[in-house]
Amino acid sequence: QAIHLLNPEELDTTNPKNTINKKRPLRMFGVMKIGVVKERRPGELRVGLVPGVVKTLVSKGHEVMVETNAGFAAGCLDAMYTEAGATVVDAATIYSTANVIVRVASPLPEEIQHMRSGTVLISTVFAKRQPEIATALSNAGVSVFALDALPRITRAQVMDVLSSQNNLAGYKAVLVGANAMGRIFPLMTTAAGTVKPSTVLIYGAGVAGLQALATARRLGAVVHVTDLRPETREQVESLGGRFVSVDGLDDVKVVGGYVAAAADDVLQRQKEAVNKVLYSADLVITTALVAGGQAPCLITQEQVEKMKPGAVIVDLAADAGGNCACTDGANTTTVGAVTIIGCPQLAASIPNTASELYAKNVLAFIGEIAPEGTVSFDVQNEIIGSTLIVHNGEVRN
Ligand code: NAD
Repeated sequence: QAIHLLNPEELDTTNPKNTINKKRPLRMFGVMKIGVVKERRPGELRVGLVPGVVKTLVSKGHEVMVETNAGFAAGCLDAMYTEAGATVVDAATIYSTANVIVRVASPLPEEIQHMRSGTVLISTVFAKRQPEIATALSNAGVSVFALDALPRITRAQVMDVLSSQNNLAGYKAVLVGANAMGRIFPLMTTAAGTVKPSTVLIYGAGVAGLQALATARRLGAVVHVTDLRPETREQVESLGGRFVSVDGLDDVKVVGGYVAAAADDVLQRQKEAVNKVLYSADLVITTALVAGGQAPCLITQEQVEKMKPGAVIVDLAADAGGNCACTDGANTTTVGAVTIIGCPQLAASIPNTASELYAKNVLAFIGEIAPEGTVSFDVQNEIIGSTLIVHNGEVRN
């Protein structure tokens, strides 16, 4: 797969600067043919690599091909990619010649048909939720690095696409909620009277939840947050939020960085603790995820029916089944006068910033799996071992 690039100066044995055989061994760098295809899933406006990152990859000797208009929706025009050193080609050229394909969302079945055996795919996959995609990629002989499967370790933080994208989703969730609400966020004193600040309740003080808290606070809301990890209290309070205490969280376990599904009695105590805030909230943002892929159902229809008229729920866990029983995928529904907005992959609605951060994560990931330009499948490396979910015709992990 690797073509070794030699510096012509180093090959010239008459050149006095040539040090190959004298002081140091020749470093052999591989060159990858990296292809970026246009995302084809509905609503997916992001692109796998942005021109700035393409420029860095090209400067390292890699060849980058970008499908025509792949970055258009993210504000990355073909001319910007060409200027960065990429070639702009059609999808067929990428599928037939690239040895590494970078994308944001997993390929559709009709795209997998075009993928050559031996191709390396770097993408999010969410294989637990859509195992058929991993199977189809395995049948096609593709090796898949799933970025959503990165381990939650310090070394992987720079590559963590879930963190970079959830951070943006948390920010955008507040704007989506504010737009759907009939109230403003801040306390406002006017000649016509004083308007009370809105109350926001956030489920989950992870990356998305803390960003939602910070954003809602900046807009002037009073923000309450519930989480099952006791250490989040301090994080919430440091951002000006009010932590909703739930008794007896000592048994809540964390598995691989994810909270393990909580026992029913814990969830019941949590419901009792948050209900008072829930029933007075103007906006509820749910971000809670647990190990295993399926989001816990934290707000029942019965609870929604008791909420304030005009209240809005923005469910960021929609693609994992939703934290609210009334969430209907990516749709907006109403229960009485309460609006429930399912927001899967909300970062895709901020394609420019989201692609920029995603591409930087990918650049760091490529640096990890192919430091010398040749992709390593050494599963002893924790990052490779966790993310390499399909290889040699087998679905792993
Ligand atoms: P996540 O997406 O797994 O879940 C979101 C939040 O939901 C978590 O805070 C979780 O505790 C919470 N939650 C689960 N069940 C709940 C319930 N019943 N009620 C309320 N909340 C519930 O989490 P995340 O945003 O990815 O982050 C979790 C932690 O992991 C954070 O401290 C984050 O900084 C850390 N993290 C570290 C790395 C890394 O080191 N590479 C990467 C990602 C996240």
